[in-house]
Amino acid sequence: MKNNDDIITIDGPVGVGKSTVAKIISEKLGYTYLDTGAMYRAFSLKVIREKIPIEDVQKIVTLLPKTKIYFSENKVFMDGEDVSNIIRTREVEEIVSYISAIPEVRKYMVELQKEISSKGKVVMEGRDCGTVISPNAKYKFYLDASIEERAKRRLLDKKYQNQNLTLEEIKKTIERRDHIDKTRKDSPLRIPEDAVVINTDKLTIEEVTEKIIKYITEKKNIQNL
Ligand code: C5P
Repeated sequence: MKNNDDIITIDGPVGVGKSTVAKIISEKLGYTYLDTGAMYRAFSLKVIREKIPIEDVQKIVTLLPKTKIYFSENKVFMDGEDVSNIIRTREVEEIVSYISAIPEVRKYMVELQKEISSKGKVVMEGRDCGTVISPNAKYKFYLDASIEERAKRRLLDKKYQNQNLTLEEIKKTIERRDHIDKTRKDSPLRIPEDAVVINTDKLTIEEVTEKIIKYITEKKNIQNL
């Protein structure tokens, strides 16, 4: 099978720094940045606004074709509204892992994600980028870090500062979301077989970015020899 040499996937658990790293790499390489989690978040926001209980899977599924999710200039839009900030709230985080575990929701989002990435020159990040959305991507990475480190980083992350959670509460939320993401039946979070695993516990964002760029450059150079 042909490898896609202009697709970079970055998977990993909650709060490991995937978005920041993916964004920087996409800017450095002039690639499109695809935040796959933002799509599940945007759809979860719609479910909240429509006041549909998370148990009512049938009703949630009928909402899919009535919801338009797209990106423009690294902002995520839902039904024409820029929802980039509002999807980072506590309310959305409480339900997003349940919503993203619904197979019909995954199928719908994965199709959209495949369509966006089919144009190539993409850095995508999420939970199933290297396993399901783009199994043929040539450059796959999996970022990991301890729960303590991830909770500390999340506490300081400006994007999430309206959540008013304590470090302990953040830790619990992360553990709960990771558990759902790792144990769901349909495309659970796992390390792609051919991914480079980077533990970011003792690394800065710059160091992680450098490692990834270095790996890609070296692999490209070896092929051009
Ligand atoms: O990455 P982020 O925290 O924004 O993702 C929000 C949620 O969306 C994750 O906890 C996960 O449940 C879901 N997700 C997913 N598959 C992806 C990206 C995110 O199931 N590729």
